[in-house]
Amino acid sequence: MTRAATASPPQSNWRRGVPGALLALVAVLAFAAVAPAEGYYLNILMQASTYAIAVAGLVVVLGYCGQISLTQAGFLGLGAYCVALGTVDWGLPFFVALPLGMIVTGVFGLVLGLASLRLGGHYLAMVTISFQQILTLVLTNWISLTHGPDGISGIRRPVLPGLDLTGGRAYLGLCLAALVGATFFTWRLKGSRLGRAMQGVRDNEIAASTCGVDIFRIKVVAFGISAALGALGGGLFAGAFAYISPDQFAFNESVVLLTMALLGGVQSPFGALLGTCFLVMLPEWLRFLRQAYLAVYGAAVILIMVFLPDGVWGLIARRFGGRGRAQTAGAAGELPLLDRRAQPSEEIALKVAGLSKHFGGLKALDGVDLAVRRGTVHALIGPNGSGKTTFLNVCSGLYRPTAGSIALAGTDVTGMGAHQRTQRGLARTFQNIRVFRGMTVLENVMIGAERPGNDVWRNPSGVVSRAVGALQFVGLEDAAHLPVGALSYGHQRYVEIARALAGSPDVLLLDEPAAGLNLTEKRALGELLSRLKGHGLTILIIDHDVKLVQQVADHITVLNFGKRIADGAPGAVLSHPDVVAAYLGEPHLHEVA
Ligand code: ADP
Ligand code: MG
Repeated sequence: MTRAATASPPQSNWRRGVPGALLALVAVLAFAAVAPAEGYYLNILMQASTYAIAVAGLVVVLGYCGQISLTQAGFLGLGAYCVALGTVDWGLPFFVALPLGMIVTGVFGLVLGLASLRLGGHYLAMVTISFQQILTLVLTNWISLTHGPDGISGIRRPVLPGLDLTGGRAYLGLCLAALVGATFFTWRLKGSRLGRAMQGVRDNEIAASTCGVDIFRIKVVAFGISAALGALGGGLFAGAFAYISPDQFAFNESVVLLTMALLGGVQSPFGALLGTCFLVMLPEWLRFLRQAYLAVYGAAVILIMVFLPDGVWGLIARRFGGRGRAQTAGAAGELPLLDRRAQPSEEIALKVAGLSKHFGGLKALDGVDLAVRRGTVHALIGPNGSGKTTFLNVCSGLYRPTAGSIALAGTDVTGMGAHQRTQRGLARTFQNIRVFRGMTVLENVMIGAERPGNDVWRNPSGVVSRAVGALQFVGLEDAAHLPVGALSYGHQRYVEIARALAGSPDVLLLDEPAAGLNLTEKRALGELLSRLKGHGLTILIIDHDVKLVQQVADHITVLNFGKRIADGAPGAVLSHPDVVAAYLGEPHLHEVA
């Protein structure tokens, strides 16, 4: 494909798209200047623009990070109450109360995100519902602070020196400008390192953590950002209507906001914007139906959601998509870890001592010792169920060991989480492929290149060229911009290997890379492994294929029923009587993938 070969240097992440955003800003301000200065349509425009900012928050937490949040109206309300109480009761200027509301609400968001440490999926969604309900109760019943169910009236709009924003058009201009800002921020976030980490968490938490992503921190941050955006929309909403009351921010409003996001397309702030405008306008369009309006409204929403699972924007993006990709241009395959040319040495890169892992009564691993020397390929073999994958899972930090220790280049990492081990130079692939399905091949590999501790991880153009380099190494650079799901199983494995390589790891763990591959693909994989070995990369590989193992391994360890039964040079190990009895003696096992 030639797409990957247009030449211009990759631009810094956040600067890209600024001209478009400025153009949009001028356009909305011009629109505000001619919009109705008061009345019904002005209200609709203000409602749509302030809601759309809050819905952009849902794009971050749900669309990017995959966490269902049913408390966005609560965040909207917190922001609105901060501006209302700030300007009416506490005598704060509008532009002090608004950011204050964003900060306070952002902190609530972070705290709510902390719940994701213990809870995931539906349970976390339940917690967000509880938060929403508690907030409504507080807004209604803490009368001395919130004015209770009567709400707060007389909320003032801002006046700056030389700029009076109290008029209808001027205030609409402010709301629309904030909307452009929020949309731009959310859009650029998607292509940033943080945004990619969020999408990694959404698509596959385990893979993300082994790419060095601190999944807990990422979820907390996503909730914080979504809350702050909710509060920005809420604060502007309060100024727009001069009156607020608790019922405007109740649970059913959270459902409406969620529907707006899903309807428009939760993967993109543009989708959120479309969905919001549509749901704000739809009741107006259907007004002529009188009593039947709610039924038609509900049916329309359900039909759109059923037939457009990616929302309206998903449909548009599929039609006209393809622009705005990360430039792979000029990023000719740079992969410095392959230039280290480390010679096999006696230095131990990965040392495991007395490692045990018990699942209830099952001893999946039982006191296993293993030492991988730097610059060598070390194979771990054994029959099915002998504990090989468990060994890798414990080494990479996905499981806590029952006993034993793990050291990386002399540092004890036994107590560390998966992402911390990755940050110290460990990388791995999975027996059952774990790619980030919502992303392109290039984005998958970029997450690998963004491994904290890698020399380019903070440098966007360095990350792209590192990722392209890794893709070139495995021969997939032409597929860079394809969705990863469009690739064959074998090629998805290569994406995983490229993702691991892009992080310039010290030690690479490969769990049955040949599993599920056909003969041709297996041969190509053998060739790839030989090339990696030629570059002196330190590798611990699990495989069933004895031929492949013989071809690449400098050292072999054999497991059986969780115990190490042999360890040493390939020739000696493969002829060891226990190994022959347990493993090689059953020839059919050689072919088991
Ligand atoms: P291998 O990779 O060598 O085929 P595994 O490490 O996957 O073997 O499995 C070793 C043993 O541990 C098997 O009996 C398996 O059923 C068990 N096991 C692996 N993971 C778990 C788990 N998460 N919970 C319970 N048992 C497990
Ligand atoms: Mg396994």
